[in-house]
Amino acid sequence: MQSKILVSACLMGHAVRYDGRAKPLLHPVIETWRAEGRLVTICPEMSAGMTVPRPPAEIAGAATGEDVLAGKARVVELTGADVTEEFLQAARNAVTLALQAGCHYALLIDGSPSCGSGFIYDGTFSGRKQAGNGVTAAALKAAGVEVFSDHEIEQLIDRIAE
Ligand code: SF4
Repeated sequence: MQSKILVSACLMGHAVRYDGRAKPLLHPVIETWRAEGRLVTICPEMSAGMTVPRPPAEIAGAATGEDVLAGKARVVELTGADVTEEFLQAARNAVTLALQAGCHYALLIDGSPSCGSGFIYDGTFSGRKQAGNGVTAAALKAAGVEVFSDHEIEQLIDRIAE
């Protein structure tokens, strides 16, 4: 059976981002994978009950998704509201779906405090980036799912072809 790919809903054109927008990934392989039934779409944050639009959120204290999973860091909105529990639930939902659907891979949009894998923001809401995983990406990796960012789609194509 072909391996499936868990994919960020906003990359698939769903307007689920905090600002009410999508960020569609325009690559011909997406249609191929869709036709093959490989794609399993989720917005982890919406699966945890978060609404659209919602205030931007970052992992506080220049920490990472792994720190949040370990209880060492929190996720906060620009308003100051603590949304750590929602982000943890979002990550659990994504892992459950990935494992149930047989997703060996995930293709997630970079920069998000949930879906980011190459980089996230440093918690100051100043636009400063740092290397690291969001909470969902960290949880998926811990569960054995290979995570690729939207910038790494060519690597995912090569990996699937192996
Ligand atoms: Fe996109 Fe992931 Fe944020 Fe949902 S949680 S809007 S899928 S980046």
